[in-house]
Amino acid sequence: MISSRTKVFALIGDPVEGSLSPPMYNAAFRHLGLDCVYVALRVPSSLLREAVRGARAMGMGGLNVTYPHKVSILPLLDALHPSAREVGAVNTVKNEGGELVGFNTDGEGALNFLKERLGSLRGRRAVILGAGGAARALAFSLLREGTVLTVLNRTPSRARRLALELRGRGGEAEWGGLKREEIKEALSRADLLINATPVGMDREGETLVTSDLMHRDLFVMDLVYHPPETALMREARKAGARAENGLGMLLHQAALAFNLFTGKRAPLEVMRRALRRAA
Ligand code: NAP
Repeated sequence: MISSRTKVFALIGDPVEGSLSPPMYNAAFRHLGLDCVYVALRVPSSLLREAVRGARAMGMGGLNVTYPHKVSILPLLDALHPSAREVGAVNTVKNEGGELVGFNTDGEGALNFLKERLGSLRGRRAVILGAGGAARALAFSLLREGTVLTVLNRTPSRARRLALELRGRGGEAEWGGLKREEIKEALSRADLLINATPVGMDREGETLVTSDLMHRDLFVMDLVYHPPETALMREARKAGARAENGLGMLLHQAALAFNLFTGKRAPLEVMRRALRRAA
């Protein structure tokens, strides 16, 4: 029952229609008997500053942040947790007594999903397609696990910059572009392929990698989850490889944000079931 004491949380982005976050969080709040509610609010870029000030003024409990605000929200917050500072993007904002603090749970969320599927990632070789916010979040988290990384990006200079940052932190990292030969060479030695670009989203048939470049021991993770089976996943399966969409990462990044918002351990299975029902 929503009351005058109910704490309000929201996803902000543009667009947010069809977001799977409200059913996931509200199921978790209900399960734990918390007087909280979660909504999705469309905030156009031109009004982001007002929206953040409004969230602070109205004492909202916290925000999740999605496209296109993950980077532009940085200077509007009162403080940044190292997880957000290192990636340069925020996906979670917690209201700490009137101070809005930015976090990034995308990388750890993806990692928790990958560990669920693959166990330890130490010494494994991962190829990441993309060098934007999601790729950066994943790369820094995988680096901490001792994974060897190759970043391939449409704009190779961005991949180079990220790989050099990773090396600066003591990691093993290579970079390149998206030419067929570059992808083939990187994948021949890889255990893990991660698509951290929007290629394949909402459009049938688009993929950066085809089955002839993959091998059966590869685990393919597409951050895209709409459609639920992307062309990249189909190509992976054709090659005999395992493949999953981005719903696992979505679940785990939300579970970590839930922990931050409520100080309670997220009921992961409740959230997983709500996500499956809503997807
Ligand atoms: P971003 O910061 O805008 O970065 C986009 C990246 O994709 C850049 O590296 C860009 O390359 C590349 N790219 C864009 N269009 C491309 C194309 N047509 N061909 C090749 N490369 C292309 O976006 P992001 O926040 O990292 O998000 C990336 C994807 O991950 C999105 O689809 C997003 O929905 C998904 N995501 C999923 C989850 C989840 O929980 N499942 C979480 C976060 C993000 P350039 O550098 O050359 O521009």
